[in-house]
Amino acid sequence: MSECLFCGVVERTIKGDVIYEDDAVVAFRDIRPQAPVHVLIIPRKHIASLLDLETEDKGVTGHIFQVAAKLAREQGIAKNGFRVVVNCGTDAGQTVFHLHYHLLGGRHFGWPPG
Ligand code: AMP
Ligand code: ZN
Repeated sequence: MSECLFCGVVERTIKGDVIYEDDAVVAFRDIRPQAPVHVLIIPRKHIASLLDLETEDKGVTGHIFQVAAKLAREQGIAKNGFRVVVNCGTDAGQTVFHLHYHLLGGRHFGWPPG
């Protein structure tokens, strides 16, 4: 079994509320949602953080943003607005070291973030 939690979700050894998947990415609901809609979009490939992206990963990062837009529409948050967040490292509060994009919507978000 993989030691990475989100690789476990990809491999289905860890249960996830998956709402979308294709050959490059998996999207599932965050277990501790911070907004009415809180989805995590991850590459199937294990990439520990944004700092670990390689040139060959350019395609998947662009694809993730397209999936975020598609899911925002499907989840009903496109009209009022939403946020896509990548936390990287300690100060940003990254807790899971498999690159993930938070798709958040369904409420107003303050700026700057806390
Ligand atoms: P981050 O703090 O950016 O690393 O985000 C990690 C996110 O993963 C948090 O929002 C957690 O609530 C979420 N999370 C942790 N374990 C799980 C899990 N098993 N299924 C879904 N989301 C999870
Ligand atoms: Zn992983």
